[in-house]
Amino acid sequence: MLDKLNELLGGALRLDEPMSRYTSFRIGGLADAMLIPRDVVELKAGLHNARRLNIPITFIGNGSNLLVRDGGIRGLVIKLSGTLDWVHINGNVVRAGCGVLLSTLAHRAVDAGLKGLEFAAGIPGTLGGAVNMNAGAYDGEMKDVVTCARVLDYAGEEMELSYDDLGFGYRKSALQQKGLLAVEVTLELEVGDKEESLAKITELNRRRREKQPIALPSAGSVFKRPPGHYAGPLIEQAGLKGCRIGDAEVSTLHAGFIVNVGNATANDVLALIKHVQSTVQEKFDVTLEPEIRIIGEDKGEDE
Ligand SMILES: Cc1cc2nc3c(=O)[nH]c(=O)nc-3n(C[C@H](O)[C@H](O)[C@H](O)COP(=O)(O)OP(=O)(O)OC[C@H]3O[C@@H](n4cnc5c(N)ncnc54)[C@H](O)[C@@H]3O)c2cc1C
Repeated sequence: MLDKLNELLGGALRLDEPMSRYTSFRIGGLADAMLIPRDVVELKAGLHNARRLNIPITFIGNGSNLLVRDGGIRGLVIKLSGTLDWVHINGNVVRAGCGVLLSTLAHRAVDAGLKGLEFAAGIPGTLGGAVNMNAGAYDGEMKDVVTCARVLDYAGEEMELSYDDLGFGYRKSALQQKGLLAVEVTLELEVGDKEESLAKITELNRRRREKQPIALPSAGSVFKRPPGHYAGPLIEQAGLKGCRIGDAEVSTLHAGFIVNVGNATANDVLALIKHVQSTVQEKFDVTLEPEIRIIGEDKGEDE
């Protein structure tokens, strides 16, 4: 079926791609096939034909919030970074393709004299991934700046979602619940001062470098903030900083991060997540829920 799909897409597929190349964790088995669509026409053709051939579809952005299991991903992975990354700015309204990196978008906005997106400049994801996750940091979240989005469903049907339709909540959106792919996003920002915005980005990035293990592969904060608590301090108070399974380690800098200190497998990370969850549950009676998205298949015993 994948050969047929590749033929229909004019040979655009990459076959047996190691997902470790496409995730910030540097972990993950092979994807059967990957499409990095050059434009929306190719994206729609990929969705439409995969659906027609009953091939399962997974979409990813910059892979910065993903743990891909060691058995990889069956079917088609559609990767939406390094493509669809245009930006149009008109007054205080910014329209952009889902593939643009948040750092690029934040700097484009600042260059145009707009403020409001500084919080996002250090988040290593795409615009589409950030809308899906309602990504946020310091004093902002995507829900504060996004006004609407053009999305596709798994059959390649296009529709416009209003702010209310996007159903933003803490690290969630309607895109997650409904399995929709954002193609184009509109944001409304405020008129600002370029120097002030640049100074803010520099300061937030400094805080990030000081507090987060950004030099090591990770997927950012592993757990959502449990109501009334912060995950990092709880994990630290449970004595788990530096705790290691295989090459997966609870960061010694920020206990809310798990880092890959060498050749960690997804199984190492999953075992460490479980250990952290059960220890924190036992010590503090607090349930930690993963914020990172865990996708793909376990590795079979004979592999
Ligand atoms: C060092 C580090 C620091 C981080 N700091 C933060 C932080 O401060 N705040 C924060 O919120 N996150 C943070 N993250 C996590 C991550 O960067 C964000 O969640 C980011 O928004 C994910 O974007 P992505 O493009 O990498 O998406 P991916 O990780 O590739 O995908 C995440 C989810 O989004 C979906 N998706 C991707 N593209 C689209 C699209 N176009 N339409 C619909 N769904 C899509 C995927 O299917 C998947 O379910 C950090 C990660 C790292 C590694």
